Amino acid sequence: MAMTGTSPSRTAALKPGVVTGDDYRALVAACQDGGYALPAVNVIGTHSLNAVLESAARNRSDVIIQLSNGGARFFAGEGLKDAMQARILGAVSAAQHVHLVAAHYGVCVVLHTDHANRPLIPWVEGLVGHSEEHFRRTGRPLFSSHMLDLSEEPLDANLDECARILTRMAPLGMSLEIELGVTGGEEDGIGSEDLESADNAHLYTQPEDVLRAHERLSPIGHFSVAASFGNVHGVYAPGNVKLRPEILKASQELVAQRHGGGDTPVPLATDKPLSLVFHGGSGSDKDKIAEAVRYGVFKMNIDTDTQFAFAEAVGRFVMDNPKAFRHQIDPDSGKPYKKLYDPRKWVREGELGIAKRLDEAFADLGSAGRSLAGA
Ligand SMILES: [Zn+2]
Repeated sequence: MAMTGTSPSRTAALKPGVVTGDDYRALVAACQDGGYALPAVNVIGTHSLNAVLESAARNRSDVIIQLSNGGARFFAGEGLKDAMQARILGAVSAAQHVHLVAAHYGVCVVLHTDHANRPLIPWVEGLVGHSEEHFRRTGRPLFSSHMLDLSEEPLDANLDECARILTRMAPLGMSLEIELGVTGGEEDGIGSEDLESADNAHLYTQPEDVLRAHERLSPIGHFSVAASFGNVHGVYAPGNVKLRPEILKASQELVAQRHGGGDTPVPLATDKPLSLVFHGGSGSDKDKIAEAVRYGVFKMNIDTDTQFAFAEAVGRFVMDNPKAFRHQIDPDSGKPYKKLYDPRKWVREGELGIAKRLDEAFADLGSAGRSLAGA
């Protein structure tokens, strides 16, 4: 089913498990109407993935699970030689795991992939191919959405390619996340020195560009925008990041003003015509997060903070039990350490660290207790 035309029902319960197509749109609309957002958590293996599901379930929140290209490659295994094949297989493997277990956690899960620049388009297209095959068998795509990040290219080149890929995805009920403006920080190779000049225009998305994207893509299918409003990937010392969520508000207002009267192929039902995404959410001020959500952000990416939560918990366990990580049997007392070096013990500590950090994210984003999943 293509995601065009009438607005989906906003209150109906959804089936727990992976949501795609009209159900995905209903979930995005519920977030925007309800003034909350979902954390989008990067996973690299079943341990981090299960921790996300565990925390979502106990917080009664829906959640977005995503893979970067590197995370997908890691998921398939570092031993695989062909990197592009590993990126595709790892993402498919993660998606199949989620399809198998997510419903049993009783919440709705969006399956997504993170940044893909031009060299990574074959990764996205390879995954769309898997969704096409899944669609032929089940009537639904494997993934809910993918991201294409061509923000370093001229606007028209960016939108041309996004339109081409979305044209292939929309008939499957898939959504496309695009990026306009450049999110700072390590992930995109922009050094922290750029943060010194927060007026640097390329770090801020121009509302006129968002309007162009809306006019080009909304007739094709559902899309979302990762807008840059001073956000950065990674965590930096306080004071280095100047978030300006008012840029998001200006973009919503411009699009609503030009296309709010039903003159577009897809009439707008709300004052938030754009589905907005917040990258670089780790370490952000809570009041700025709340403001961004008020302006229609439905998804906030979290990676750095959950990486640290995992590492910190494992690190603490190792430091508390140093002998168990050097000897199978205590050289002095003869005591066996199997119960401590068993990976199910210390990897579990890491999982609990991730889940605990996400408890905070579900609260900050206002999604706790609001899962759309019915019985
Ligand atoms: Zn990002």
